[in-house]
Amino acid sequence: EQSDLGELITVPSVTKDGAQVKLEANIGRPEEVEIALKFGAEGVGLFRTEFLFMDRNTLPSEEEQFEAYKKALEGMRGQVVTIRTLDIGGDKDLPYLGLQRENNPFLGWRAIRYCLDRRDVLKTQLRAILRASAYGKAAVMFPMISSVEEVVKAKEVLEEAKAELREEGQPFDEHVKVGIMVEIPSAAVAADLLAPEVDFFSIGTNDLTQYTLAVDRDNEKVREYYNPLHPAVLRLIKRVIDVGNAFGKEVAMCGELAGDDKATEILLGLGLQVFSMTPSSIPRVKKVVLSTNNEEAQAIAKKAAALA
Ligand code: PEP
Ligand code: MG
Repeated sequence: EQSDLGELITVPSVTKDGAQVKLEANIGRPEEVEIALKFGAEGVGLFRTEFLFMDRNTLPSEEEQFEAYKKALEGMRGQVVTIRTLDIGGDKDLPYLGLQRENNPFLGWRAIRYCLDRRDVLKTQLRAILRASAYGKAAVMFPMISSVEEVVKAKEVLEEAKAELREEGQPFDEHVKVGIMVEIPSAAVAADLLAPEVDFFSIGTNDLTQYTLAVDRDNEKVREYYNPLHPAVLRLIKRVIDVGNAFGKEVAMCGELAGDDKATEILLGLGLQVFSMTPSSIPRVKKVVLSTNNEEAQAIAKKAAALA
């Protein structure tokens, strides 16, 4: 089977009835773009940037971040690299950031919430991303968005960063795309309010499942309750895809579900066209894409969303 899958790497991902599907990679370090390309990724749908902030005692400088983002962008040779801004808090604690112990860290001061209070941290990161955008096709993605206000504020910081760079005469891509993770149920339910503010959505099924079903994603005791294919989660996924399509905005998925080949047919049936996953999962998912008929998949997805 392994060699079978190897042969799929250069084959375009198209369904039996001719629908184009984009298979992208999730990476956590710039070096991983090599692995992404090796497995046939057509872009990076999620570049987690936490590594830059971990195992150290001070914030990474703009220069340090710029070098890392530039490396990933150059490595992908013109294919998109979707760089997610800092997503700390929750399970990802960093002592030097001054995060306090919280009773409910997953519901607390994390990710974009932290960044909007520490605009300096966010702006430094956005400046680094923008500067790197001169070396490839970058996209910016904000995590843990729960309402429109956060997107508006985050975009304000982005505009400030752009204005500074223009002033300094530093080159960057003026048309860098801006998107959000849809990983909090409120963002999925109110996706129609968020759509006008963004260029794309990326569904984060890890957190979306956790928050929709009120199940800690890392707690073994409640593992059986953690089901990304729960009909309620599927309905939220469907809503985000439908709203994205209605507004002409790209909808991707970068949670683990996107790389689960047992879910591929259902996701295609829900209308998903961009899947981002651990690079090594790409061939297996592609295999399902190649053998899927969209009309049949739609019937399966409909059935799945209606199952009690
Ligand atoms: C998600 O929540 O689905 C996601 C992709 O982000 P992370 O796993 O980094 O929280
Ligand atoms: Mg998440």
